[in-house]
Amino acid sequence: MVEKILVVEDELVLRETLTYNLKKQGYEVCAAADGNTAVDLARREQPDLVVLDIMLPGLDGFEVCRVLRKEMNMPILMLTARADEVDKVVGLEVGADDYLTKPFSMRELLARIKAQLRRVRVLREEFAAETPSISDKQVLRFGDLVLDLDRHEVKLEGEVLPLKPKEYELFVYMAQHRGMVLPREQLLERVWDWAYTGGSRTVDVHIRWLREKIEHDPANPTRIVTVRGVGYLFEG
Ligand code: CA
Repeated sequence: MVEKILVVEDELVLRETLTYNLKKQGYEVCAAADGNTAVDLARREQPDLVVLDIMLPGLDGFEVCRVLRKEMNMPILMLTARADEVDKVVGLEVGADDYLTKPFSMRELLARIKAQLRRVRVLREEFAAETPSISDKQVLRFGDLVLDLDRHEVKLEGEVLPLKPKEYELFVYMAQHRGMVLPREQLLERVWDWAYTGGSRTVDVHIRWLREKIEHDPANPTRIVTVRGVGYLFEG
């Protein structure tokens, strides 16, 4: 599997240099020149690692890091230009995994990237060894709520729920990503495949319908919770 790296750097020459060198190493690369684009790209591309400059137009690197940390857990390697930035990266819990001070050598950067990706691979393998993969388990149980992937059925207290196709797909996606914050954009992309252009409102409406069916008290949902300003999370 080719690993994907998101490069966030507003200086054109450095961005191009990073992109060129990472591609040469066999990585897939996407790049952003400002913080807001970086967040959008990360949500859409789900990169395996992010190289993130701190001084950026729009959201700065610290803010981007905080947003990404809430939603995803890929390694984030920050590029700092000044000593006070280093203090902030190391001292504050912005959630970066590593940092490099400019100017840095490309060899050093590649070594750090390899180390981070290796760390994640090891973690993933350990996790896979302990947990049967979701595709092996055809029936997922969440208390009295049961998802049967073979039969395409969702049951609550033993009764099959009359879910529409998109409600079912949305529920399957959320159930398979239990405990993860799922941004509306991600749900739109994965469940609707961007084919439907109703926007994030589409997600909200389907979530409401789902809640009416799977929640004991749809007005006070405990299974599908809202993550304000981001999206939703399936608690189980
Ligand atoms: Ca910069």
